[in-house]
Amino acid sequence: MLASSLCFCSRPPKEIKRVKLLMGTKVEITAQGKNEAIMEAAVNKGFDEIERLEKKFSRFEPDSVVSRINQNAGQSPVQVDSEVFGLIEKSVAFCNASNGAFEITILPVLSLWKYNDADPRPPGSQEIQEKLNLVDCQKIVLKKDQNLVFLPDPGMAIDLGGIAKGYAADKAAQKLRQNGVSAGIVNAGGNLTVFGGTGKGIAIGVRDPRQRGKVLAKIYITDGAISTSGDYERFFIYNGVRYSHIIDPRTGYPARGVESVTVFAENGADADAWSTALFVLGSDQGLKILAGKPGLQALFIDESGKKIMSPGLSQRLVWLKGEN
Ligand code: ADP
Ligand code: MG
Repeated sequence: MLASSLCFCSRPPKEIKRVKLLMGTKVEITAQGKNEAIMEAAVNKGFDEIERLEKKFSRFEPDSVVSRINQNAGQSPVQVDSEVFGLIEKSVAFCNASNGAFEITILPVLSLWKYNDADPRPPGSQEIQEKLNLVDCQKIVLKKDQNLVFLPDPGMAIDLGGIAKGYAADKAAQKLRQNGVSAGIVNAGGNLTVFGGTGKGIAIGVRDPRQRGKVLAKIYITDGAISTSGDYERFFIYNGVRYSHIIDPRTGYPARGVESVTVFAENGADADAWSTALFVLGSDQGLKILAGKPGLQALFIDESGKKIMSPGLSQRLVWLKGEN
């Protein structure tokens, strides 16, 4: 995950910054505007919005819509509201566009990986193969006219962890804008949605994946989103191998080869989903996919520390001294 050193480059009158723990991560909202009371109220509405979405999308909350869908796998379709339907539909589209790298049905395999154990180790390969049979976004049955979602095989389960924070950042930013904030940043655990930047834009720092606190580069944006997926926040090391929390759906093992990938996109849901997908795909395959998508740009840092950028990104990225 990224996180960022943030600066507003042309400073309007007032700025506030508030932090809350939501969606299992640190959510930081920065707002600029003329009136502090208005900004304070707007920021609270932004946090409320993220809380609302966490209740709906969390797979850890037994009453969430996602949990209901998972509990009914192999049994019956679940009727959801159009927001949930829309995000699941979008997730399936990302699955297709990324050749299956972004895969919300990964959960049965992901659950085998016990990152929080005292002495974590990889699960057995047979277990992984068995659970991989349940992983396939094409199997999700979506009936748009009734907003029905059905996971046909018992044991199938979805996890929106690779897209929900980016989507939530977008929705919170929308609340800020609607409530009198002229410029702002919503940072949901390394998924940043930015709006209202002027001039060169707002600078977002890209972290060094191997040196905590060190910033390598700045990416300037006026309106849009930045998301980083990395192997340095949630992982374990076993026999010298690092196992991260992003699973390669082709193998059932954590993706290898990339330390971090930072994505710029028009909105947070896209940036979040693509950062997860590109982490799986790696820079070679990733750059091929990005070539057909001018609104999407990425910086990969591979396992040897090499930095690889998609061509469009150089217009908005500035390296810190000595870092490229
Ligand atoms: P973070 O949650 O740290 O910001 P990501 O956005 O990259 O990082 O999402 C990682 C999360 O996405 C995992 O914790 C898991 O919930 C889910 N996930 C893991 N592998 C995949 C995958 N191949 N496709 C989609 N989601 C995944
Ligand atoms: Mg993601």
